[in-house]
Amino acid sequence: MSDHSSHTTGVHAGRHDLADQGTHAPPLDRSTTYPIRDLDRGSESIDALSDGKPPKGNSIYQRLHNPTVARFEEAMAEMEGAEASVAFSSGMAAVSASLLAAKQEGRHIVAVRPLYGGTDHLLDSGLLDVEVSWSQASKVESAIEADTSMVFIETPANPTLKLVDIERIVGQAGDVPVLVDSTFATPVLQQPLNHGAALSLHSATKFIGGHGDLMGGVVCGSQAWARRLRRVRNATGGSMEPRTAYDLHRGLQTLPVRIERAQQTAGRLVERLAEHPAVSDVYYPSRGGRQKREIVDRQMAGPGSMVAFELRAGYEAAASVMHDVSLMTPAVSLGSTDTLIQHPAGLTHRSVEQADREAAGITEGLLRLSVGLEDLEDLWEDLQGALPAET
Ligand SMILES: *Cc1c(COP(=O)(O)O)cnc(C)c1O
Repeated sequence: MSDHSSHTTGVHAGRHDLADQGTHAPPLDRSTTYPIRDLDRGSESIDALSDGKPPKGNSIYQRLHNPTVARFEEAMAEMEGAEASVAFSSGMAAVSASLLAAKQEGRHIVAVRPLYGGTDHLLDSGLLDVEVSWSQASKVESAIEADTSMVFIETPANPTLKLVDIERIVGQAGDVPVLVDSTFATPVLQQPLNHGAALSLHSATKFIGGHGDLMGGVVCGSQAWARRLRRVRNATGGSMEPRTAYDLHRGLQTLPVRIERAQQTAGRLVERLAEHPAVSDVYYPSRGGRQKREIVDRQMAGPGSMVAFELRAGYEAAASVMHDVSLMTPAVSLGSTDTLIQHPAGLTHRSVEQADREAAGITEGLLRLSVGLEDLEDLWEDLQGALPAET
């Protein structure tokens, strides 16, 4: 852990030993297997790894341990102010492993909507054989049962940028660990463990990767949680590929700069969208009343670069905006260098039942923007040209 700003931590995390090794960039180890001369030590290493602990000198096999992945995990833990982190092949692999790790303590999960569409679907599908109670943020305490092993929340939430007060949920959860999907915030804007959460989860595919060219997931928490998560990862195989870990670690160096720049542009776009006659509502963490702004001030370093807005003219207008933008990329996902625009009801949240979707505010006229690094005026010209002129 460090007291440095995320700009400094991002540049140096997971690199503290490099100067003494006489090297500048970290080594990339792509081995799938590791030679074992000393059989006794090899066996001890397997025992340690099977128990979710670090190896005794030898990595043995890539699914169990890889030095490049471990280096990214160390850096990520430092960014989050966590004891440890565990990396996975995707955000959903991280979500699945977290649920399976929790399930060892009890089958019941309390989840607060809205969540990422894939997470919502996984919880609702029964695929992992966990029992789910959907709860409002204010009613978590009464949803907890004797065998509840996790409270699952997401903030800022996808796609409406709804905020959940982490400390309030932690207070209601009592002894039950709270997992926060913090993908939209990144460790630059939010560190859930500082607010009492047990676990902070990211789809690294998004801002942490930052360039739309890799998939990964990571869960940050205590050493005890990391051991449980590694055991699940060893057994189920959702491990991160070393090259991906290398790229993610490299990307951490510019993450705070990317986040700040995109956030600045997003704030200005929000102001302009709010005044546009075709737009009936704009959703952004720092907009929408004192209570919401208080939560931002307490648990976030800034409102970020995700924006959602509602078109008065509904589905047809939303579809034509996606069709007509030329600079923005009409695509799902988020956190890339280019600005992405997408229609949650028709795409990312299509797998959520329509009634649940509507209850979560995911309407037919809603578009979601992931603001990238382009120039503000260029983006506005593009968006303005695609928005309906008349209402
Ligand atoms: C994308 C996303 C996920 C799933 O991550 P993948 O890397 O696509 O598997 C989970 N939660 C949130 C908030 C996301 O945006």
